[in-house]
Amino acid sequence: MSKRRASPNSHIMSERFHRPFLPSMLRGARGACPACGEGRMFWAYLKVEANCQACGCDLARYPADDGPAYFTILLVGHLVIVPVLCLPIIWQTPAKYVIPATLIPLAVLTLLALPRVKGAFIGLLYALNVRDTDAKLHTADALD
Ligand SMILES: [Zn+2]
Repeated sequence: MSKRRASPNSHIMSERFHRPFLPSMLRGARGACPACGEGRMFWAYLKVEANCQACGCDLARYPADDGPAYFTILLVGHLVIVPVLCLPIIWQTPAKYVIPATLIPLAVLTLLALPRVKGAFIGLLYALNVRDTDAKLHTADALD
């Protein structure tokens, strides 16, 4: 009978199971702390609170960087711009009407989506237990 040994990373895996992906991302998308869902995540439009007011979770340690902007562009581009370009009215109407009629709603939609995507992204980082101290793992920073 063999005795199972815990792997060196078992403490990381057990901690990860206490951080479910979907609830953490949904709490973040609501602008709430991904850990407790009670405290707010942002103190300004995209400025993340240093610590959760309710549970004290260190929210500033999750390096969102350019991820929220990337996913916001990806979402808006695929869900809005591509379907709009398939509408014939876009190509048949003069540009002086089409450009403001499309760019202004797109800008508003992007600005509305960005904090929600950033919150969900930080919720994902929370669930994955990614921290700012893991920055040495970023391959893009290896050349700095
Ligand atoms: Zn909290």
